[in-house]
Order: sequence, then structure tokens, then C-alpha cells
Amino acid sequence: MKNAVVTGGGSGIGRAIADRLRADGYNVATLDLNPSDTQNAFIANVTDRAAVDEALAGIRSQLGPISILVNAAGLDSFRRFSDTTFEQWQRVIDVNLNGTFHCIQAVLPDMVEAGWGRIVNISSSSTHSGQPFMAPYVAAKSAVNGLTKSLALEYGPMGITVNAVPPGFIDTPMLRKAEGRGFLGDTDKQIEQTPVRRMGKPEDIAAACAFFISEEASYITGQILGVNGGRNT
Ligand code: NAD
Repeated sequence: MKNAVVTGGGSGIGRAIADRLRADGYNVATLDLNPSDTQNAFIANVTDRAAVDEALAGIRSQLGPISILVNAAGLDSFRRFSDTTFEQWQRVIDVNLNGTFHCIQAVLPDMVEAGWGRIVNISSSSTHSGQPFMAPYVAAKSAVNGLTKSLALEYGPMGITVNAVPPGFIDTPMLRKAEGRGFLGDTDKQIEQTPVRRMGKPEDIAAACAFFISEEASYITGQILGVNGGRNT
């Protein structure tokens, strides 16, 4: 049984990924800022390396070494760039990019030791064309895509694949909150602009992650697989 850690696994996309991996037969632990009722749920802020290390130590003592990591913890932000303080910029970079750094670096020794590993980073379709009022978020998620490609080259020889899934417009608490605050415009219009004419489901993202993690995907690394209903924005 392989052990998987899903950050942001308490809600939305991360939760669906954790459920899917459990259904596929993996041992799954989640790591989230907030408590959740899922199995093996650990609380940690991904921006705090000591807290990440402590949570991972707990997961290792419960399940054993970790060979799969999905980085789904994320924080959005909507503000005009000229009104963005450096602290606000830094917070978004910290959760979306530095949190990914901490979690990957903290689990890599297990994967290197095993000579097998799977890392999937959840970025964002906003990285394809940019997004007004979301500059720090898009900058952080674009960096996650770059990190993905670089680590794929560095760790491929050690049996570890690193891929990214940039989701489109996915029906989650994060998206609904942004919609409720008037940041997303008309949802029906967004659906109209999506070739497959529906919002994405968290399970759509989980399916792509499950593929990257599967044994059949061992020849696929450094890839950015958009799951967006055909809409690359
Ligand atoms: P969500 O808000 O429902 O879930 C995000 C989870 O991350 C929450 O449980 C939250 O507690 C956790 N989290 C946030 N900051 C954290 C931190 N510092 N440490 C640990 N956990 C933290 O959002 P979602 O829509 O499911 O988003 C999941 C991922 O997908 C995010 O990275 C997000 O940026 C990305 N994404 C979502 C969409 C979308 O349309 N929903 C689109 C593109 C990208």
C-alpha cells in the first residue's frame, strides 16, 4: 500500500483528490489549516516548515514513508495590483508557492530512498493567459508550473515524476466565496464561455491526479495538464 499526502485535503479539490486516492487503494493523509472529518487528517499551515515537518512525522509514524504528494492547499486574492501591499503579495506567494516548496522538500527524502515517487501540483488555468486583479496568485501559480518542470528533470532519474494540474472553473467553496463577493462575474456567462458548457467538478481534477499517480503514467513527467472544459483562461 502506497502512502499519499494531500495538502488542502479538508475542502474542495483537495478533499476530492483524497477521496479518489482512497478509493484507488492508497493510504491517504490530509494536511490542512483547518480541522476536517476525513481519515488521517492532520492540521498544519503549509507556510510553516516546522509545522509541516511535525505533521509529516505524525503521518510517517501512523502510515510509514510517503511516496505520493499532491499540493492542493491554496489561497486566492482579488485586488488591483497598485493597491496590493507587499504583505498581501507575500501572503499569497507564501501559501501557493512557498507552501509547495516546504511540502515537496519535506517528503522528497522518502521518495528518493524508495526510488519511486509521485508529486502533483495544483496550479491554475489563470497561468495560461493571466488574470486581472489576481497578479500575486497568477505569479505564484506560474512559478509552481516552473517548479514542476524543473523538479521533473532533477528527480526523474530517481524514479520520481512531477506534474501539474491547472484547474479551470471548479465548483468549490473557494470559487463560491469569490463569486459571492462579486469577483467572478456571472456564472452562467462563464459556463457559456466554456466549450463543454459546464462548471468543473472537484472530481474532474481528482481524476487527472489519479492518472498522474498511477503506474501507467511512469513515462509522463514535467507536464502541465489543463483540466478546464476547453477554456484556457
Ligand atoms: P478550497 O478553499 O475549497 O480549499 C483549499 C484548502 O486549502 C482549504 O481546505 C484550506 O483550509 C487549505 N489551505 C489554505 N491555506 C492553507 C495553508 N496555509 N496551509 C494548509 N492548508 C491551507 O479551494 P479549492 O477551490 O478546492 O482549491 C484547491 C486548489 O485548487 C488551490 O490551490 C486553488 O488555488 C486551486 N484552484 C482552484 C480553482 C477553482 O476554480 N476552484 C481554480 C484554479 C485553481
